[in-house]
Amino acid sequence: MSEIHIRLPDGQTLEVPEGSTVLDVSRRIGERLARAALAGRIDGKLVDLRVPLRGDTALEIVTPEDPAAGEVIRHSAEHVMADAVKRAFPEAQIDVGRVDHSEKFQYDFLVDRPFTPDDLEKIEKEMLGILAEGAAFTREVVTRDEAIALFESLGEELKVSRIGDLPDGEEITLFRHGDFVDLCRGPHVQRVDQIGAVKLLEAAGAYWRGDESNPMLQRIYGTAFATRNELTAYLEAVEEARKRDHRRVGAALDLFHIDPLSPGSPFYHPKGTVLYNGLVDYVKSLYPKYGYQEVITPQIFRTDLFKISGHYDLFREDMFLMEGDEGEEMAVKPMNCPGHCRLFAHAKRSYRDLPLRFAEFSRLHRNERSGTLTGLSRVRTFSQDDAHIYCERDKVPEEIQGFFEMTREVYQGLALEGVKVCVSTRPQKFLGNPADWDRAERELIEAVERAGYPCGIKEGEGVFYGPKVEFDFEDVLGRAWTLATVQIDMAMPGRFGLRYTGRDGGEHEPAMLHRAVLGSLERFIAIYVEHTGGDFPLWLAPVQVAVLPIAERHLEFARRVSAALLGAGIRAELDLRSEKLGFKIREAEVAKIPIMAVVGDQEQRDGTVTPRRRRGSKRSAEAVAVDAFVAELVSEIAGRRS
Ligand SMILES: [Zn+2]
Ligand SMILES: [Zn+2]
Repeated sequence: MSEIHIRLPDGQTLEVPEGSTVLDVSRRIGERLARAALAGRIDGKLVDLRVPLRGDTALEIVTPEDPAAGEVIRHSAEHVMADAVKRAFPEAQIDVGRVDHSEKFQYDFLVDRPFTPDDLEKIEKEMLGILAEGAAFTREVVTRDEAIALFESLGEELKVSRIGDLPDGEEITLFRHGDFVDLCRGPHVQRVDQIGAVKLLEAAGAYWRGDESNPMLQRIYGTAFATRNELTAYLEAVEEARKRDHRRVGAALDLFHIDPLSPGSPFYHPKGTVLYNGLVDYVKSLYPKYGYQEVITPQIFRTDLFKISGHYDLFREDMFLMEGDEGEEMAVKPMNCPGHCRLFAHAKRSYRDLPLRFAEFSRLHRNERSGTLTGLSRVRTFSQDDAHIYCERDKVPEEIQGFFEMTREVYQGLALEGVKVCVSTRPQKFLGNPADWDRAERELIEAVERAGYPCGIKEGEGVFYGPKVEFDFEDVLGRAWTLATVQIDMAMPGRFGLRYTGRDGGEHEPAMLHRAVLGSLERFIAIYVEHTGGDFPLWLAPVQVAVLPIAERHLEFARRVSAALLGAGIRAELDLRSEKLGFKIREAEVAKIPIMAVVGDQEQRDGTVTPRRRRGSKRSAEAVAVDAFVAELVSEIAGRRS
């Protein structure tokens, strides 16, 4: 048998007989590594430990510390769960399972009734028993007929049907641990006891193959980790996310609701509207500084517009279409860019007019499928802090620089930290020529680096018309969200025939950038509410000050304090209820009101208030003159100091 060369991450090369498995190689490296090994990685793809290696290759061994360990562990836990279900419910038929990106795994079963919480507990117990048995996974290559015969003999008809889905010529592999066998490609852990902790989460009905005309199966969701600590941390994070869910906080703080009569379209309540407008006003307040001009373009267009832009072909399914009075097809705009291109084309432009930066907050509509709508994070109507920049081609780097500065300023005001910046490069299918793409990608990367951010690369994730920069923000729960984006558009100026007179007197095509700092306001509010838990900075809080009189006799003075605050444009709320002070303070805290102004005998006598702040400040509250209090808040709010 011939030898093959395996390159290891440390640069070493091992010579092993062809057909050696990944596990064999890890044994050659060291016994400790071999015991800890969970899978291998070749060309960025995970491979099962038992896969024989053919030909020279680079190989990495995945151990519990590897970021991919969880995926291998959870996939293996799928098999263990299916085994446990068969032990507890021998009549059950197994279908298939999968692992998703939210650290969960699932498996579908045909059973005669839905699983109850007691069933899940029983299955989980079985799983723990199986883990304790510590069986090793084994891999076996079989023919199609052998696989069919095996699962027929086990009475697993769903599995037999799944074998029929496998393309001709594909290697069919079985994996066993103990007596349980499943059809699978892997990768699996070496031994089941490498799955350190499991937890079943819930069960729900799911149609076989996702088709409503098929029988209903029962799907069980669970999660698994290498260690108990990781499982505990996961369960705590899930609970925290549930508490912070923007739909829950939005209801508690009276911000918005969704009415079934307008799916995916929020009703902003007065407090939610303050939040919404606060963000809009903030971004608009920076327009003069960064050279943006606000415009308002139509909501409804003849679809010819979207035929020119190319969106009609790509995006038609997501547009709200209607008929005009002359029988022409019209659409509610799903984005602003085509309209802005028409606006650019409306006048004769010269290099002296450039750059033109059109900004627009108008509402956009996309006919998202009802099943995907979620609170404010997936909606049918939204507005973006959208702008399109038209400039001379060689001014693109400068424009990107300006956009970064604006983004930095906006995020500072919102106390958003921990932003990562990535450039998404040319996808498989793209418009334009590769040299232009290379130049645009290089300019974006340089701009990111000049702005002082380490630049991540999202290979092949650019849009078909140009590369883009994304700002990924990590929230308090460690979840990453893309907020700001800037994209170079190498298609639309040409499609709309945009021209300007250049310095040389000739006609040129302007460069075009799409950019947004917050992105969709709806989505941003969802993320921001979950990140802050509703504890907004003072300048943005729907109610900024709660005025709390201690007793009935302080009402008159409390009214004067409240009027002084309102008169200065501060959103104050006067608590007139005849409740104890402690109760009122707790209520204001639950409502996340940043400042409470307490007034009692002393305050009334001296013309002062005693402010208490929700966040930070441990210093004992001291009384301040009402005028000084108001003036301090006015300046704090104007400066957007949190
Ligand atoms: Zn598997
Ligand atoms: Zn755009």
